[in-house]
Amino acid sequence: MIDLKDFEYDELAAFLKEHGEPKFRAEQIFSWLHRGVESYDEMTNISKATCAKLEEISYVSTLKIREKYVSEKDGTMKYLFELPDGNCIETVVMRYHHGLSICVSSQVGCRMGCRFCASTIGGLYRNLTAGEILNQIIFAQKDIGERISNIVIMGIGEPLDNYDNVIKFLHNVNHEKGLNIGYRHITLSTCGLVPRIYDLAEENLPITLTISLHAPNDEIRDTIMPVNHSYKIGELIKACAAYAGKTGRRVSFEYSLIHGINDSIENARELAELIRGLHAHVNLIPVNKVEERGFEKGSDRDIRLFRECLESLGVNATIRRELGSDISASCGQLRKKVL
Ligand code: SAH
Repeated sequence: MIDLKDFEYDELAAFLKEHGEPKFRAEQIFSWLHRGVESYDEMTNISKATCAKLEEISYVSTLKIREKYVSEKDGTMKYLFELPDGNCIETVVMRYHHGLSICVSSQVGCRMGCRFCASTIGGLYRNLTAGEILNQIIFAQKDIGERISNIVIMGIGEPLDNYDNVIKFLHNVNHEKGLNIGYRHITLSTCGLVPRIYDLAEENLPITLTISLHAPNDEIRDTIMPVNHSYKIGELIKACAAYAGKTGRRVSFEYSLIHGINDSIENARELAELIRGLHAHVNLIPVNKVEERGFEKGSDRDIRLFRECLESLGVNATIRRELGSDISASCGQLRKKVL
């Protein structure tokens, strides 16, 4: 049985044609799917006979809300969604002045092994399908009753480790007959799978690429991010420059400040030197404590000094506002707690 949301629009049209359906059927069904119907019965402009026929060969996938938390501090919403096979994933919706922004997961678990990250503790269970990534947006939006306008692929998983499904998802979520979210409103975050960054540059999608850098040199990065054993920091920065050159989009960097590991003024200077010439933006994130890992964030003063040092060297840097801190809203924390 095939999940209709795993088709791209053209594939859906071809599938329906193959089963004797007229051309306009694809448009009808695609738009129903993106509005969050949970079965064929809800597609009211499609005949019972057609629904019965399609039901035998395909299905409409759904996500169950297993838990939902709303931050009392800032309204951030966190969903623990249950997949049809019983696995769980996390999705977070944040309210900004420009609208709702959603952070979606791309895998169940993760095999990248970053030392500070809760998502990777149990390893990778499986990839999410394109439909399962999309469903997080469809069902969060349905639950909230408001349009979601921005997407970050920054939840559980490494999106470039699930490349084909993520690309398919991007095409679908951007499609004018579906949710129609512009590529410029989509950010993909990666720990740095270098060959895939080059592939992504070739896709011609004007999404924003952000790199989880977290270290200014190989010595530090090797100790906190195993991916750095495969792709060294110099290669990563080269790939970013190539991506920016090819797409015309500025790359940004995530840098979690871990006290005593990567947050000295010397580290800030090294970081500025490393990304000089990229005109990149740096998001500084005070590390979220994960019990198992024992990493701590520095004082507000340390964090401010780090930022000021970057700025003084011409690097644009912001300190990320911590949203949803009362509801375990960071990567992998909720899933781990509930399971
Ligand atoms: N695998 C992708 C996307 C998911 S991680 C990536 O690595 O970019 C989302 C972001 O949260 C990454 O920047 C990750 O490094 C960061 N992160 C994970 N655990 C964290 C923690 N405990 N504190 C602060 N940031 C964390």
